Amino acid sequence: MTFLSTFKPDDEAGRLAAVERYQIIDTPPEAEFQEIISLIRAVLQVQYVAVSLITSDRQWFKAQLGLDIQETPRDVAFCDHTIRSEAALKISDATRDPRFADNPSVTGDPGIRSYLGVPLRSPDGYNIGALCVMGTEPREYSKAEEDVLRNFSKLIMSQLELRLLSRRDGLTGTLTRRAFEERMRMSFEERAEIQMSLLLLDIDHFKQINDLFGHPVGDAALITVASTLTQGLRRTDMIGRYGGEEFAILLQDITPQDAEALAERLRAAIAAAQIAAIAPRRITVSLGIAHRTRDIRSIEDWMLAADAALYEAKHKGRNRAVVAA
Ligand code: GH3
Ligand code: MG
Ligand code: MG
Repeated sequence: MTFLSTFKPDDEAGRLAAVERYQIIDTPPEAEFQEIISLIRAVLQVQYVAVSLITSDRQWFKAQLGLDIQETPRDVAFCDHTIRSEAALKISDATRDPRFADNPSVTGDPGIRSYLGVPLRSPDGYNIGALCVMGTEPREYSKAEEDVLRNFSKLIMSQLELRLLSRRDGLTGTLTRRAFEERMRMSFEERAEIQMSLLLLDIDHFKQINDLFGHPVGDAALITVASTLTQGLRRTDMIGRYGGEEFAILLQDITPQDAEALAERLRAAIAAAQIAAIAPRRITVSLGIAHRTRDIRSIEDWMLAADAALYEAKHKGRNRAVVAA
């Protein structure tokens, strides 16, 4: 399905960004992954199976069988060793391995002896975690068993990739409206303590671009707008394609003044972008800005406020940003 790029072992910041991209940490258990690991347990005849994802400081299990815990600190995670290499990690008796003999899950509960783990590698070369099996008796894992586990790790990664693709708009690569709203709702409900602003942006006179230059040029212009916006955003910001030529942007952990300054920079960056096929014509956008205030009780309220501000920006002559009253 995807071309695998080479393994990138020494880019922890890139690895953490890859973990983040899948949006899977701290999500509820799902039957799909549970079924895969049940199958692994049956095929390999093991006691414990885990789909382990490694964040900056935690090992978090998307699925596990037998362990009955949700996470461990990263520094005691066997899987944190597995992700440092492309090869499988095989431990036949952890009590005889100086790296793991003192590990609390070896010296205490559940008394791990054997371990086989393979990395969960993203198509762009980051080991986001590991798929592993374990047992409380010493055991040698064969090459054939390793291959079975490796194939299951690929299955898990294709599931994660497919989910990622279904959340992205095919033309611009930004979130779909549905995915944007879902994540906006999550931020709205779970992050009451931080300041946030919502931007709603609409391309000015876009119908003319299509009419004058054709739909494919219109598509290219949409791609340019999306990439100009994405480049101007911070890692914590979120952008979605909200309609045909409309984008929504959620700025998180930002003061109203900074959000307004950022919106102005985005507007200016788009007005300055060169699009060869329409030169010397330029594209401009209008923006509505709605800061999250106490009056905003739901994401629907919030969208309406941004939309009203956008409407006003259009009305005042376009190519400008207006803050919701
Ligand atoms: P305004 O300044 O008031 O926003 O005018 P406008 O022409 O931008 O707005 P209008 O809503 O009339 O037209 C939006 C156009 O966007 C119409 C539609 O054909 C075009 N459009 C929507 N989605 C796509 C797309 O995926 N590709 C292309 N090329 N055009 C699209
Ligand atoms: Mg529109
Ligand atoms: Mg428009």
